[in-house]
Amino acid sequence: MRPLGWNNHAGYAQKKLGEMLLDASLIDESQLKTALTKQQRSSKKLGEILVNLGYTNEELVLNLLGKQLDSPYIKIDDAEQIDNTIIHRIPENLAERNLVLPVKVEDDTLWVAMSDPANQFLKKVLALLTGYNIKSYIASPKELKQAIARYYSREGRFEKTAENVPLHSYFLPLKQLGFTPRQLPVFEKYLELQKGCLLIIGPEDSGKKTTVYGSLRQLNFPDNDIVSIERKMDYKLECVNQLEISGTSDQDMKRMIDSVNQFNPNILAVENIQGVESWNGLGRMAEKGNLVIGTINTDQNIVDFLTAFQDKRTTHYSVIENLTLVAEQKLVRAVCPYCQTPYKITGKTARKMGLKVKGAMANIYKGKGCSICNHTGYYGNTACYELLPINNAIKDMMMQNASKAKMKKAIRKEITCSFNDVLQEKLLKGQVSAEDYLQVMSKNLNQFKELKTVMVMDTFWSLFERSGSINAYLEYRRKN
Ligand SMILES: [Zn+2]
Repeated sequence: MRPLGWNNHAGYAQKKLGEMLLDASLIDESQLKTALTKQQRSSKKLGEILVNLGYTNEELVLNLLGKQLDSPYIKIDDAEQIDNTIIHRIPENLAERNLVLPVKVEDDTLWVAMSDPANQFLKKVLALLTGYNIKSYIASPKELKQAIARYYSREGRFEKTAENVPLHSYFLPLKQLGFTPRQLPVFEKYLELQKGCLLIIGPEDSGKKTTVYGSLRQLNFPDNDIVSIERKMDYKLECVNQLEISGTSDQDMKRMIDSVNQFNPNILAVENIQGVESWNGLGRMAEKGNLVIGTINTDQNIVDFLTAFQDKRTTHYSVIENLTLVAEQKLVRAVCPYCQTPYKITGKTARKMGLKVKGAMANIYKGKGCSICNHTGYYGNTACYELLPINNAIKDMMMQNASKAKMKKAIRKEITCSFNDVLQEKLLKGQVSAEDYLQVMSKNLNQFKELKTVMVMDTFWSLFERSGSINAYLEYRRKN
């Protein structure tokens, strides 16, 4: 796989480099001639050849090239420790393949160290990817290689704890996390109340912590005192007092919450709440008028979670009383935005898939595969949410131990965009693939149940790609 921007961008600068070294009397004409002759038989750059011949040194060459390319020379080994939040702006594979390292952020500009600052294409990709303006330093390829290995392999261990979460998403603002335009203001409204219990539930590694970090980032005002109790502290957040819990038991968590309670922060986040004692601790914090954001690892959906909670209504009274919002979160692979390709399907087929589309035709999307997504067609994940604002009617039902059916009906009415709605929206916007949409929705789409197995999905995609239509697949199913 070729790195981005394989054209010889640096040709102009290379030619100038010889002249510049000559002008500065750093080499003489015969040395330049020898180097240029050698270069004709080599794929190496002029600067590298001059350095290898011992006529000059790398630092001098990089300094001059840097001036030429408006990219100051940076010696990475001497640079300050680069912050994790900065490193995550650029994905590892991109950094490695193109020898580029993010160094610092200044307002809306990201400074990157590059081996080839003349590569405008790479700069454009970085700008698109990060949302920043890009300014560059020139740096030694060898130092870049070493630094990339050092910074990203040190981060490697986090990849394990949050397997499906793209690393750079940890510090994303809420608006970039995957809430739909209808959901975001609802979530923000309850967050900004700055009181009560806001719970985020979902399976392990569904990106709940990312949502919490995004929330804390949004609440990060000077007069807010924020504490985050974490099972494992993966990242250092500015302006948040993070505490890592040492044990795993309910008592360990309770002790931590009690000690935090003593210095009374007005915002507390707690990762993966499990036992009654912890819930009581949270209830006490919320009763004092503070905001408590809790995450819970569970495979239950909102209805099952709340009916299980209802069973514990006597012990969980103070939490139920202060509940403001429950968010359920799932991660779905995101279609790579750099190779996203539309496919036309008939409106009839779309409706058969459960999509609420009106026209005769509809577009759905697939990532074709490109160098940015390692030819997978997917780039990171998108979080999908169901939001349930808790009103008094729901609280009363929980306290009066209403039937599950009654609860379900009341909850379904209050949810802001169901997963169904969210996935539809994301499918039609090209953020999730039909493959994943059908997989998540298969419960409601009996005719697509078979698509669950990878083998069938492959058949589906090859037929789909050849014909551009799901009808071909349906035809295939009818015959087989
Ligand atoms: Zn791609």
